[in-house]
Amino acid sequence: MFMLQAIDQARAAKDDYGRVGAVLVQHGKVISVAGSSSLEFPTIHAEHAALEKAGWLNDPTPKPNSKIYVTLQPCLKRSGGEKGCSWDIINSGIEKVVYGELDTHFEWGESLKFFNSHGVMFEQIPYTAIRKECWKIFCENNKSMKK
Ligand SMILES: [Zn+2]
Repeated sequence: MFMLQAIDQARAAKDDYGRVGAVLVQHGKVISVAGSSSLEFPTIHAEHAALEKAGWLNDPTPKPNSKIYVTLQPCLKRSGGEKGCSWDIINSGIEKVVYGELDTHFEWGESLKFFNSHGVMFEQIPYTAIRKECWKIFCENNKSMKK
């Protein structure tokens, strides 16, 4: 299951501000995988890294049967106000976003409205245990979260 691969990427991520993993899939095959990193500057978000690895970043050509699996709802804005991964996603021709947990501490719901208005489908993974695991990995070692 692709979300479990995304979780593996999140677990391995070198990110002490919230680990996230992403898996890019087309026609049922993995195109690229990535985890977030706070060791780089600017910090790298998982979705951005997976799109870059695939050569899809800023290539809006439609990608039939493509999905991005990401452990956390994609960001609409970065913490510095820059455009977030949701922009990368709409500019890469992806058909659908499948996310684990909702990002409840930044801009809940905003990126979903954004996908809706840009014709990108989205769905939350239907398994509660998997959502909880995605959130747990995000929160562990996260210096920006209050304990
Ligand atoms: Zn992001």
